[in-house]
Amino acid sequence: MGQHFYVETLGCPKNQVDSDKIIGTLIADGMTATGDASLADLVVVNTCAFIDEARKESIDTILALDERRKAGARLVVTGCMAERYGAELSEALPEVDQVAGFGVPVNLGVTVAGRKSIPVSAVQVPTLDLLNLPRPRSTSPWAYVKIAEGCDRSCGFCAIPSFRGPQRSRDVASILREVDELQVREIVLVAQDLASYGKDRPDELGAGSIVPLVRSVAAAVDWLRLLYLYPSDLTDELIDAICDTGVPYFDLSLQHVSKPLLRRMRRWGDGDRFLRRIVDIRDREPQAAFRSNFIVGYPGETEADHDQLLRFVEEAELDWCGFFSYSSEDGTYAATLDGAVDKRLMNDRLAELREMQDDITARRRDSLIGEVITVLVDEPGVGRSHREAPEIDGVVEVPVHLPIGEFAQVQVIDAMGPDLVAAAVVAQVDA
Ligand code: SF4
Repeated sequence: MGQHFYVETLGCPKNQVDSDKIIGTLIADGMTATGDASLADLVVVNTCAFIDEARKESIDTILALDERRKAGARLVVTGCMAERYGAELSEALPEVDQVAGFGVPVNLGVTVAGRKSIPVSAVQVPTLDLLNLPRPRSTSPWAYVKIAEGCDRSCGFCAIPSFRGPQRSRDVASILREVDELQVREIVLVAQDLASYGKDRPDELGAGSIVPLVRSVAAAVDWLRLLYLYPSDLTDELIDAICDTGVPYFDLSLQHVSKPLLRRMRRWGDGDRFLRRIVDIRDREPQAAFRSNFIVGYPGETEADHDQLLRFVEEAELDWCGFFSYSSEDGTYAATLDGAVDKRLMNDRLAELREMQDDITARRRDSLIGEVITVLVDEPGVGRSHREAPEIDGVVEVPVHLPIGEFAQVQVIDAMGPDLVAAAVVAQVDA
């Protein structure tokens, strides 16, 4: 009988894309996927190292899968933690057979008599270009596509550039090929710093602008959504291109609104500029939906900074917001700053912001009751309109008979916190 593999993915959408590509190579190697780790001959954990909590979850998952795997199965750890803490991981977790950094194949075909630890640096292996590897056809009506790897910025709190390296944008042709192969209705473009796509290859890719890529992908798929837009890159041309896709969804990576604190974060902008941009977009497209993320308790965050953020959240009335407590990362600029915010105070600020945003989100969802909206049906009884990014925002409950992978027009009849409930108007429409 052929060999089976099991892949567990932690962390962000970008990791999910890497996992899809790892799965693609394993299938090409002649292996078969299994959803049951205890049946697999190869168990792969694609880890996340973003913050303490994510690292802990990664370790817990590795240990849990070690318990579940069958005798003789190989346990391989890859992803951000493997890249960043490879040597320490190999040493601290002897149960792991291989720690594979980015671009290192997870299936080295090592036949293990007993368990063998292969430190990441000890093996000479061919490197895989994860960005451009083929991936299996998507099983859902939407899919992430990663258009660049790495990041050229140096945000104070972020360790990503130190281990993902500088930005490397993919060729348009390879992205379009992947979009075509996935055969989905909605593509969600991701990268560490999405709107910077092409800036590392200005002569070859769209004169250093993402706009031509957005227009090409939009022409190849029904819905196109962009995640993680750094606010200074949100040009008029890009706003127009996003509105023209028919999915006016703006995921702005703002992180804070206090100007002095943003400078301490080594980031651009301030609350007034952000608000003006949001108002501009709403004037142009009243149906535009907005999401953003904010860090709470960055070193030096004062009561006045926090009040500014509260005022901004109240005024901006974004559809969706994520608030995250600051976590100090080794090797970052922020780790050298003074003015650490007390953990209890950080949690109080977080709770205040989350409570305020939950009310805003619920109000905005209530205001949709009675409207007729277009949804893409993801699974039986569950759809999304342009306002909801998959796996991140709320959903729209729809009648179960609506076919998966098709668009439908539905009327919103109720709202429950982040989710909407809708009844069918016309079973099937074009996007
Ligand atoms: S833009 Fe800033 S936060 Fe995002 S990956 Fe780059 S350095 Fe990190």
